[in-house]
Amino acid sequence: MPDLLTSDTSRREFMRTLSLGAGGALASSSALASPLRWLAPGRKLGVALVGLGKYSTGQLAPALQQTRFCQLAGVVTGSPAKAAQWQKQYGVPAKSCYDYQTFDRIIDNPAIDIVYVVLPNALHAEYVVRAAQAGKHVICEKPMATSVADAQHMIAAMKKAGKQLSVGYRLHFEPHNQAMMRLGQTQAYGKINHLAADNGFKFGNDTPWRVNKELSGGGPLMDMGIYCLQGCLYTKGQVPVSVTAKFTPETGTGYFKEVEAGLSWQMRFADGTLADCRTSYAENMPGRLRADAASGWFELEPAFGYGGLAGKTSKNDGLLNLPNINQQAAQLDDFAQCVLQNKPTRVPGEMGLRDVQLLAAIYRAAETGQLVSTKDAGQLIDRTNAR
Ligand code: NAD
Repeated sequence: MPDLLTSDTSRREFMRTLSLGAGGALASSSALASPLRWLAPGRKLGVALVGLGKYSTGQLAPALQQTRFCQLAGVVTGSPAKAAQWQKQYGVPAKSCYDYQTFDRIIDNPAIDIVYVVLPNALHAEYVVRAAQAGKHVICEKPMATSVADAQHMIAAMKKAGKQLSVGYRLHFEPHNQAMMRLGQTQAYGKINHLAADNGFKFGNDTPWRVNKELSGGGPLMDMGIYCLQGCLYTKGQVPVSVTAKFTPETGTGYFKEVEAGLSWQMRFADGTLADCRTSYAENMPGRLRADAASGWFELEPAFGYGGLAGKTSKNDGLLNLPNINQQAAQLDDFAQCVLQNKPTRVPGEMGLRDVQLLAAIYRAAETGQLVSTKDAGQLIDRTNAR
C-alpha cells in the first residue's frame, strides 16, 4: 500500500476511489486513520507557481521545501533566466517550466496538480480561468480579483472544471489568528463590542504595479487592508452589514496618483458591534488586531506578518502564547489534503468573492462619503476553529 501512489496511473486510481466516496470509509477505519499516509514517502501533489516575484521567491518556494503533501513541481515565468535559476536551485524539470504564452500546455503535464497564481491582482482572473481550463486545482493570491464580476467568473470556471479553488489566506492556518477566531467566535470573553485593526507599510516603489490601478485594482486597502477586513470578520464570526470610509491624503511622494495613499474605515455588524480599521502605503504600521468584549480584551501585535506574531489578553491567561509556524507550508499542505480527500477548503473562492464585494463597498463609501450597505456580500465565515 505505501507505494500505491508512486505511479501516475495508480495515483489516478486512488483519487478515483476517493472521489467515489470510499475515501471517507477508508479514512475512518482505524488501520488507515489518514489515507494521506499512503502518500509518504512517494509522490506529493505537484504545485506550479505562476509568477516568480517577491512572494513566490521569498516565501512560497522555501515553504514548498517544508511541505509534506505537496511540492514545487513547475513554474510559469516570463524570464528564461529565472526559469533556469529555479531549475538549478529547486530541481524543477525543464519540461515543467512555462512562460505566459505556453502556460496552457500545462494541461498535458500530469506532474502538476495545483496551480498557484502569484501575479499582480488584475491578472489573477485570467490565469485562474486558464488553469481551470487546463483541469488543475488552483490557489489564487489575495485579493482574489479586482472586480466582483471577475471573482464570479473565476468561481464559475473552477466549478465547470470540477476543481477546487482556494485563496492564499495564510492566516487561517496560523495559530495566533486561529486563536482569535476561537476566542471571538465562541465568545470566550463574552460578546465582542468593538474591534480594531491596522496594517500598512511605507511603499518604496519596488513593485510599481501596486500603485498602478489597472494592475492592482487599488492601493493599500487591496494589499494590506484586506488583512484587517479578514481579521475582524473571522474574530467576530460575522459579515458586517454596512461600512463608512475615508481616504487619507496623498503624502507628497508622487507615488499615489492612481491609488489611495491610505484609508480608514468603519464596519458595523448586525448586533451593533463596530470595527475601526486603518491601512496605509505611507506609514509603517505594526499590524494589529484587537477585540474588546464584555469581560475583557484580546489582541495580536504584530498580527499579520509571516512570523514573530504575538498576542496578549486582559486576563493574562496565556491563551495567545502560541508558537510561530511556517504559515505558507501549513496553508499549502491543508489545500493538498483538501484535494486528496476531496473535502472543501476553509478559504474557498466564495470567501475571496465575499472580500472583493466588501472591498468594493469600502471604496464606494470613501468615494461617496456615504454609508454603504454590505448586506448583499457573501456571508461565508471560517468556523473551523470555533468547533
Ligand atoms: P511581485 O511584483 O514581486 O511579483 C509579481 C510577479 O508577476 C513578477 O514575477 C512579475 O514579473 C510577474 N508579472 C507578470 N506579468 C506582469 C505584469 N504585467 N506586470 C507586473 N508583473 C508581472 O509581487 P508580489 O509581492 O510577489 O505579489 C504577487 C501577488 O501575491 C499579489 O497578488 C499580492 O497581493 C500577493 N501577495 C500575497 C502575500 C501573502 O502574504 N499572501 C504576500 C505578498 C504578495
